[in-house]
Amino acid sequence: MKINWTKYLYIFTILFFALGIFNITFAWLGFICMILPFVLLIRDKKKTWCQKYCPRASLLSAVYRGRKSKGRRTPEWLAKVDAKTFFLAYFGANLFILMMSTIMVFRGRIEAMDHVRFLIAFQLPWDIPQLINVPNIPDWAVHLSFRVYSMMFTTTVIGLILGWFYAPRTWCTICPINTLSDMGLKNQKEG
Ligand code: SF4
Repeated sequence: MKINWTKYLYIFTILFFALGIFNITFAWLGFICMILPFVLLIRDKKKTWCQKYCPRASLLSAVYRGRKSKGRRTPEWLAKVDAKTFFLAYFGANLFILMMSTIMVFRGRIEAMDHVRFLIAFQLPWDIPQLINVPNIPDWAVHLSFRVYSMMFTTTVIGLILGWFYAPRTWCTICPINTLSDMGLKNQKEG
């Protein structure tokens, strides 16, 4: 019997958050989810990542699998350009803050962030444990790790909330990766 292993990709999402508890620098793995979709998009000229491999979408499908889907559709207001633009701007702002703050930590201008935040600014009321102590990790690397982990945490929580109220993969409608991929495909067709 052929196993459809793509059904189990959600394990990588769980693993990602679990590894952060061992050591936050595992959060650098999050860059795979930001870079690989576009590598595959350029190679295949279609959204291969979204259609087959995205571990976050797999998690959303797995969490809400078996739930009655009747009446649970993606709301129209979320499918509008404004909502997509808003989340794209949020993603851009996040990346900008991530880069600039990491540079400032590197240059010793600000302290490294050592906690997880929700929506860029809201610090979680608990610290995640660090079960493996890796010596000599530079502050900027720790800071970058917490920023990436926070980004992934925020979008996953929003995805789970949207999936609870609407269709499981409602997040995909406004996901910045999706919006950027659509823009890239449109440019390819026109170009
Ligand atoms: S739209 Fe975003 S969350 Fe959905 S499959 Fe694509 S990358 Fe994953």
